[in-house]
Amino acid sequence: MGIWFTEKQTENFGITAKVKQTYVSEKTDFQQLDMVETEEFGNMLLLDGMVMTTEKDEFVYHEMIAHVPLHTHPNPKDVLVVGGGDGGVIREILKHPEVKKATLVDIDGKVIEYSKQYLPSIAGSLDDPRVEVKVADGFMHIAESENEYDVIMVDSTEPVGPAVNLFSKGFYEGISKALKKDGILVAQTDNPWFHQEIIQNAYRDVSETFPITRLYTANIPTYPSGLWTFTIGSKKHDPLKVKANRFHDIKTKYYTNEIHFAAFALPKFVSDLVK
Ligand code: SAM
Repeated sequence: MGIWFTEKQTENFGITAKVKQTYVSEKTDFQQLDMVETEEFGNMLLLDGMVMTTEKDEFVYHEMIAHVPLHTHPNPKDVLVVGGGDGGVIREILKHPEVKKATLVDIDGKVIEYSKQYLPSIAGSLDDPRVEVKVADGFMHIAESENEYDVIMVDSTEPVGPAVNLFSKGFYEGISKALKKDGILVAQTDNPWFHQEIIQNAYRDVSETFPITRLYTANIPTYPSGLWTFTIGSKKHDPLKVKANRFHDIKTKYYTNEIHFAAFALPKFVSDLVK
């Protein structure tokens, strides 16, 4: 049978992968970190027993959290990633020629260290000269920032442990202050099968903070339920009104100009969550 790993999504349901070998199993200062090699999805990063990223399907999440807001903003020069220590979002951000500086603030330096070692195709851009990496609490970094960023991406763990504050209204208000006057927030907001309340609360809090709020989805096989959501809060620019000549011809495997708009077409049970 070999060794199988299961991420339980409810008491009665989970997602399972056959593990070839375990590279790291360590309790960091913030969370349980496991780095394993799986038969089907290549190397996989787990935090507190939850799948964070895998070599095989990581491109979907990283392309979709980055390119939707970066094409929506007309000139994204300064970009901040809160969380995202595996480096995948940074890799996608650097594909945009307008970006002068990308700052990554992850609370756990061990995620960065082991991602560089075991996920080089994902973390390889963290050493780019346009990137500044800080090991710090994203909530505190946001509280100390004002009028600094064009786009802020929240690539956090689920709202447990160190990430609880990253799903609060006060955090979104801080992000609004940290953004420039036409800035854009995007946050991963979990899945609509098992965590409706995360989507509903985030959408409510973001729409009370930003004039434009939009929810979009992507298909990610190793995340609970496979259907993942992202919430955008924008001060001025609407992701649904991006002009055709704004799109860069960047190399992607999931994101396209058509997917940019199609991702906002929600299944009815999902749009009902945020009516
Ligand atoms: N894409 C994944 C998902 O949706 O499941 C998440 C990626 S994982 C790299 C998220 C990162 O958020 C972790 O490295 C974790 O250390 C970081 N994180 C959690 N709480 C944080 C906080 N308060 N400030 C900064 N980073 C935080």
